[in-house]
Amino acid sequence: MTSKSSAYADPGVESSSAPDAVISLQHVVHRYENRTALNGVSFDVRAAELFGLLGPNGSGKTTLFRILSTLMFPTAGRAVVMGCDASEDAARLRRQIGVVFQAQSVDPKLTAYENLWHQGHLYGLRGPSLNTRISEMLTRVGLADRAKERVETFSGGMQRRIELAKGLLHRPGVLLLDEPTTGLDPGARRDLWQYLQMLRDEEHVSVLVTTHLMEEAERCDRLAIMNEGNLVALGTPAELKSEIGGDVVLLEAAHDAARLADDIRARFDVHTTVIDNQVRIERPGGHRFVTDVVEAFPGGIQAISVSKPALEDVFIRRTGHKFWSENGDAPQPS
Ligand code: ADP
Repeated sequence: MTSKSSAYADPGVESSSAPDAVISLQHVVHRYENRTALNGVSFDVRAAELFGLLGPNGSGKTTLFRILSTLMFPTAGRAVVMGCDASEDAARLRRQIGVVFQAQSVDPKLTAYENLWHQGHLYGLRGPSLNTRISEMLTRVGLADRAKERVETFSGGMQRRIELAKGLLHRPGVLLLDEPTTGLDPGARRDLWQYLQMLRDEEHVSVLVTTHLMEEAERCDRLAIMNEGNLVALGTPAELKSEIGGDVVLLEAAHDAARLADDIRARFDVHTTVIDNQVRIERPGGHRFVTDVVEAFPGGIQAISVSKPALEDVFIRRTGHKFWSENGDAPQPS
């Protein structure tokens, strides 16, 4: 098995804040009574970056999101957003951020315009400048022609776009979104991601988005991968995947996976890992390798797959276990 201690030793963490950091987390710890949800997490988010926080359930994403959005203080360490410390300067920090929570925050009985009007008032916007800003935002999210309709008549994707417009109404430099595509159909998911990319490119907003979906994480400029309160990897999706040399070979043993792994290791001098009764090997030229293995162990292998490295493989390499356990949940801490 991949050793956990070595896996956590080098997630590529920046120990001090980069000069262009808009979010800087420095050794952030959070404990709920005796449970440690964040175990000294450090990383930076840079200006105009689409940054993903990827992790299975229970990895600490929501806890970190709540600290950044000033709903909770960290137990130890510092969380700084656009120069404002989340523990010492929460009121000023709140003006710098737009937040889109997982739970719906729009009022379905109000029109799109009314929802934004109330939001504007909360931020001290008034009169003609608020009117202009509402029109601007509704145009931006493609709903200008629906301004006077009640939000309850909108599709899930349209309601999410109103949430986004609310979050951006006061022109924040940083937008925080907690699993924003939950409950959306594939078309609405794609639209939302395109919109986030447009925000980054045209408005230079820095976006931090939490997700447990690999395909969404692939769309981010950089990623922090979390597991059980630890940062286990940090980098661009391409950088992270490139740490896996070559292909990923998965073998299902006809009998005993641990025994097959030992035999393969002895015969081919390769590193093997056994996870969920499968033998896992990373190596270049995977297709040639499987031919050799099948010839070497006739009848010993039931199924084989060879694939290019994916983010899931990065997670496995860094933690020694799969992103999701067999029952669909994150593995429980041992
Ligand atoms: P994620 O968002 O990645 O699913 P969370 O931040 O919600 O992770 O949870 C991280 C850990 O903290 C989990 O072990 C979870 O059970 C625990 N936790 C979260 N909220 C609370 C709470 N209010 N009280 C006690 N433990 C909590």
